[in-house]
Amino acid sequence: MSDKPGTAELARLIAEAKRAVVFTGAGISTESGIPDFRSPGGIWTQMAPIYFDEFLASEAARRETWRRRFAMEDVFKAAEPNRGHRAVDALVRRGQVAAVITQNIDGLHEASGIPRDRIIELHGNTTYATCLDCGQRYEIADLRAVFERTGAVPPCSECLGHVKTATVSFGQSMPVFFFALMLQLLFAVYGVPLPFGYKLQLPSAGISESDTFILADRLRHLVLPTVVLSLLFIAQYSRFMRSSMLEVIRTDYMRTAAAKGVSRTAVILKHGLKNALIPLVTIIALTLPGLVAGAVVTETIFAWPGMGRLFINALGQFDFALLMGYMLLVSALVVFCNLLADVCYAWLDPRVKYS
Ligand SMILES: [Zn+2]
Repeated sequence: MSDKPGTAELARLIAEAKRAVVFTGAGISTESGIPDFRSPGGIWTQMAPIYFDEFLASEAARRETWRRRFAMEDVFKAAEPNRGHRAVDALVRRGQVAAVITQNIDGLHEASGIPRDRIIELHGNTTYATCLDCGQRYEIADLRAVFERTGAVPPCSECLGHVKTATVSFGQSMPVFFFALMLQLLFAVYGVPLPFGYKLQLPSAGISESDTFILADRLRHLVLPTVVLSLLFIAQYSRFMRSSMLEVIRTDYMRTAAAKGVSRTAVILKHGLKNALIPLVTIIALTLPGLVAGAVVTETIFAWPGMGRLFINALGQFDFALLMGYMLLVSALVVFCNLLADVCYAWLDPRVKYS
């Protein structure tokens, strides 16, 4: 063990702790020859990451992702667990460490002997691949052999889904149920400390504490489900808005507006935004009925007696009268929202005429 200050302190803390968890990042694996991603000279400074939506959308992006992965294969294959990994393994075996949480994708903690169920890989694992649709596992060596022969990794043999290393990509979404549970843990179970000794504590489930209607109480119960549902859509809408805005910014009338001396903010808000909103209106119109029809997962986690749960319960009880009413309402909403979108198009873009 080195004589660095802090090492003895760390040893003391681990020895005295009832239960400890080890959290590791790229640093622990550099000694094994695995380059890290973010530091100067790291992988992301040399090439731009490929986002998840690009991987799904384009064959070229998938081929490039795999090309990079196979180029790294000799590095990953040669890497052996080092002193750090073995020290963590020893702590786990002695029962002093309950679990290892790692940001690393190299699988070296597992290779050092720690049981799989004790390792939480936040960013996934690159030493094998899975089908994105059915989860079927594939080995890197097999995929590489096919890639070197044909220049591409074939789709899943079971379901024709895309096969990808079992890592998490940029832009890959967190499942709603996991995000919602984390919010509950943070805001309802622990609470967030605020200045002056206050603590932000939100209710984890239900729609109210008491039977009588208290507005503030109802609003407090709304916060977490609302955050979960809106963040989901904000992520989606902002991507659409961005690409739509980029297209509009390049048009002639935007340049004309700027040339006649309109300020940049006014150009973007008044001339750009309205035109860029048109594709977004279509998407909102299509998602709005779904929001009213219910978000089953979110409602279940927050014990919210909403439309989604009503539908699932009715389905389980063969309550056809309720199901028909529900379907009728949702269908009417789809028609109404599309009508609303059509009206919005005409308002946003005067060139749109319905005659
Ligand atoms: Zn599959």
